[in-house]
Amino acid sequence: MRLPFAAFTHRQHSVKLSPAHMTDQLAHQANDIRGLDLDPRTRCVHYHSPLDIIAIKMKCCGRYYACRDCHIALADHPIAVWPRAEFDRHAILCGACKRELTINQYLQSASRCPACTAPFNPACANHHHFYFEAVGK
Ligand SMILES: [Zn+2]
Ligand SMILES: [Zn+2]
Ligand SMILES: [Zn+2]
Repeated sequence: MRLPFAAFTHRQHSVKLSPAHMTDQLAHQANDIRGLDLDPRTRCVHYHSPLDIIAIKMKCCGRYYACRDCHIALADHPIAVWPRAEFDRHAILCGACKRELTINQYLQSASRCPACTAPFNPACANHHHFYFEAVGK
């Protein structure tokens, strides 16, 4: 895959381009995220539109992954979905501001980060059942 020049330089100098000083302090969390071809906003080789900026902590191993397909590629075990009783756990990382959201906060966010208002991908709602116990059934 060829990257546009801007994306390439962003990857090389991600820390310098951080919009706020406090994101530097939180940046170490981003380094714990696993994924294929991960960029500074937690986008991966599978999902890399400007809106695909969240990472999800997996119930099975407690590690952040960029997406389910990255977990399949890199982990040695099947995904476990979060049960509804644990939707108050912090399991979503906003790739824009690096803050952690609870699953409830994410599900109620209307596709925007409640902390920094960065837009999330509304199409992710089609994939929620890969990560979270089905809601409303
Ligand atoms: Zn896992
Ligand atoms: Zn991925
Ligand atoms: Zn945010």
